Amino acid sequence: MDYGLSEEVRNLRGRMRRFIDEEVIPREVELLDRDADGRAVLEDLKMSAKAQKLWALGHPEEIGGGGLGFMPFVYLNEIIGRSEFGQVVVGSVSMQDSIMLHLYASPEQRERWLRPLVAGDIYPSVGLTEPEVAGSDPTLMQTTGRLEGDEWVINGHKWFTSGANRAAFTTVFCRTDPDAPRHLQFSSVIVPTDTPGYEIVRVIPVMGGEHGSHCEIRLNDVRVPRDNLLGPRGKGFVIAQQRLGPGRIFHCMRWLGQAQRAFELMCQRANRRFAHGSLLAEKGEIQRYVAESAAQIQACRLMTLDAARVMDGGGEARVEISLIKFYGAQMLHDVIDRAIQVHGALGLTADTPLERMYRDARGGRMYDGPDEVHRMVVARRLLKDCRNAPWAF
Ligand SMILES: Cc1cc2nc3c(=O)[nH]c(=O)nc-3n(C[C@H](O)[C@H](O)[C@H](O)COP(=O)(O)OP(=O)(O)OC[C@H]3O[C@@H](n4cnc5c(N)ncnc54)[C@H](O)[C@@H]3O)c2cc1C
Repeated sequence: MDYGLSEEVRNLRGRMRRFIDEEVIPREVELLDRDADGRAVLEDLKMSAKAQKLWALGHPEEIGGGGLGFMPFVYLNEIIGRSEFGQVVVGSVSMQDSIMLHLYASPEQRERWLRPLVAGDIYPSVGLTEPEVAGSDPTLMQTTGRLEGDEWVINGHKWFTSGANRAAFTTVFCRTDPDAPRHLQFSSVIVPTDTPGYEIVRVIPVMGGEHGSHCEIRLNDVRVPRDNLLGPRGKGFVIAQQRLGPGRIFHCMRWLGQAQRAFELMCQRANRRFAHGSLLAEKGEIQRYVAESAAQIQACRLMTLDAARVMDGGGEARVEISLIKFYGAQMLHDVIDRAIQVHGALGLTADTPLERMYRDARGGRMYDGPDEVHRMVVARRLLKDCRNAPWAF
């Protein structure tokens, strides 16, 4: 199926596929190494991506990106996702944050944060979730931001602030207007990670966490200039949603890349492994794994492209995005799980990427909203539509 892709996008996908498969995947084990050697490999690959004009393709041109449209980038992201390191080495790991900054940053904030972000010179992080309250209901957030003269004074406790340990700044979501209606109480403030009072308590040990990036942080009387407010005061939730919407589409396309790779590994193994008189590929049970995986991948791909199309057309795509978020996370889990099963004990070892992919995939059912919340969003909307339908009684 060619999805009506232009010649240009098809070529780009081909070049990206060669880069990811031939340069990035063979170096994944080296990239897992967090010391100087691993970082040198990362820098090498970033330079190679830049030299091949594969860098930051989805970011707008005016901020130093490749200016690729939303839909072409969605298609490309499936290829980037084949490697867990894909988005870092091609400069798209910060897309969610650069979209947010592009929409809301002041001219000064753009110069200081957005340009270096797109160039890959700095990394962002975002702090919504707090250990004391349910992250799936952000109206419960307890971190406060108080304006004192020309400064915001921020106090709070966050965790799962991914990448804070290497980030130049955290976009902190905090309660600035406790007397306003519930959804207008929160604002987003840019906090440089070297501000006095910004404390990384620990890098949290997490399954699938070789990269050690999910941080617990405390903000103790952190003071930043009033101008560090990102976007309008009290609009924190709108800003967070605009970051998360396209982000969920990017996640799902990336997950498709991971699932497709697991699928290929499963098929290769089934075609080689011999047991009980035939290759695994000839067993009905294994053929079922292959067929079910192919169906789930294709269903998820079409659903994700549909959500992207609605969003690209200016629609809110709330139902479509929630559908793919929980369906895509489950698809990813199921496909990797079957691939592991077909590999037998080998599938549990670090000799293939599958066990790492499996552990990483587990988080997908939680971050950017757990499955249950997305199912709730879908069901509530559809039930309401049904109540209001002309044929309802
Ligand atoms: C890998 C990873 C990276 C992350 N990165 C970041 C980050 O960079 N910045 C950040 O701020 N946060 C980040 N998070 C946190 C993530 O956004 C939260 O984990 C998520 O919002 C859920 O919040 P919680 O963990 O507090 O779970 P809770 O809100 O306590 O929910 C726990 C469980 O309760 C159930 N539940 C919740 N609501 C409902 C409901 N309405 N109906 C039925 N069941 C429900 C679900 O089973 C859910 O898993 C990350 C998480 C992970 C796993």
